[in-house]
Amino acid sequence: MVQLSFWEKESFLAPQDIIIVGSGFVGLWSALQLKLKNPSSKITILERGIIPTGASTRNAGFSCFGSPSELLSDAETMGEEKMWQLVEMRYKGLIEIRKHFTEAAIDYDGSGGYECFNAKSTDWDDCYTKLDWLNKGLQTITAQENLFTVADDKLSQFGFKGFNHLIENRLEAGIHPGKLVQALLQKVQGLGVQVLTGIEVKTYQNHYHCIELETYSMAYEGINLKFTTGQLLLCTNAFTKQLFPKIDIIPNRGQVLITAPINNLPIKGTFHFDKGYYYFRNVGNRLLLGGARNKAFELENTQEMQTTITIQNALEEFIKQHLLPDITYTVTDKWSGIMAMGTEKNPIIKMISSNVYCCVRMSGMGVALAPLVAMEVADLMN
Ligand SMILES: Cc1cc2nc3c(=O)[nH]c(=O)nc-3n(C[C@H](O)[C@H](O)[C@H](O)COP(=O)(O)OP(=O)(O)OC[C@H]3O[C@@H](n4cnc5c(N)ncnc54)[C@H](O)[C@@H]3O)c2cc1C
Repeated sequence: MVQLSFWEKESFLAPQDIIIVGSGFVGLWSALQLKLKNPSSKITILERGIIPTGASTRNAGFSCFGSPSELLSDAETMGEEKMWQLVEMRYKGLIEIRKHFTEAAIDYDGSGGYECFNAKSTDWDDCYTKLDWLNKGLQTITAQENLFTVADDKLSQFGFKGFNHLIENRLEAGIHPGKLVQALLQKVQGLGVQVLTGIEVKTYQNHYHCIELETYSMAYEGINLKFTTGQLLLCTNAFTKQLFPKIDIIPNRGQVLITAPINNLPIKGTFHFDKGYYYFRNVGNRLLLGGARNKAFELENTQEMQTTITIQNALEEFIKQHLLPDITYTVTDKWSGIMAMGTEKNPIIKMISSNVYCCVRMSGMGVALAPLVAMEVADLMN
């Protein structure tokens, strides 16, 4: 069995002020906000993967704050006030990302976003009728007039087949989530945050003076590296039940594919269809498509990361039917990530026991939400 050296215990395993579990967007933004608030605090992030292994490096990279049908559906299920609060958090989160990182650092592509509707879309009438109401609400948050506009004239430009209507949101954008995670990692490490990977937190125990963590590390032949900390923050999103079983979280797999570069790809921007069950965008001259969860709801409520034939076939069918009906393409990569949903859509940011906090349940919105939930939890832990 590998034994830890005195030096390792004195440095890497020294008692911390704060330990964050999980190095996805939320763990990294939280480390940044906590460090900015208190630069001298000793902060360590423990990540079980060699790189983050949840949703943050496996998503679609939509920098968005809600499509028209999503906002209307949220207003119905959560109530208007909560829906607008969530939109505001996401909008402010996107501003925060731009404040910290250049466009080049995160491959920011501000080509705008669209919601597509076809003849079967029962929500078109509702969206069209309530567009003014949505725009007025959005104006109070973004200070932009008429943010959602009908853009049916662009349907032929994008080469779509079988879509009847488009609503454009000129503020929506695409980013490279892998580059955003890397940039965040570099930023927090530059501020002195220790990030240790390949270490899974198994349990924690509250003692009078500190919290003690039991961990598992393959690299150390499974030995339990014991960490102690003053405060503990769980940023484990879909995987939180393992550490805190009572939490209202349902893991949800999202599957994605991307094509090889396509000459003169006509599709440019980020696109939502069928209440967000399908989402697609260009990544340079490649097409990325994700979703189709509604083809196998039960099976997709899982933490397993493999892709499935049912969903991947549904995605390919969608490309042939609607997106590239007359263009030959090759799929180069398929993958999945795990989101955290629950009986409610809003994130959970709270203290769960003495000096133990969680900031989890980001649904399909973590790119935009993470910077703001991080600020909130940093205030709570102060
Ligand atoms: C396919 C897909 C597409 C998406 N598209 C978008 C999009 O376009 N725009 C958008 O805003 N959002 C999107 N999302 C959602 C977004 O990716 C998530 O909301 C966000 O990444 C959540 O970040 P997080 O840090 O909370 O969780 P995660 O990124 O899942 O991070 C949690 C981390 O905790 C680690 N961990 C868990 N348990 C332990 C443990 N016990 N010990 C140590 N480490 C642990 C995991 O390995 C993981 O790295 C998408 C998600 C998926 C899956």
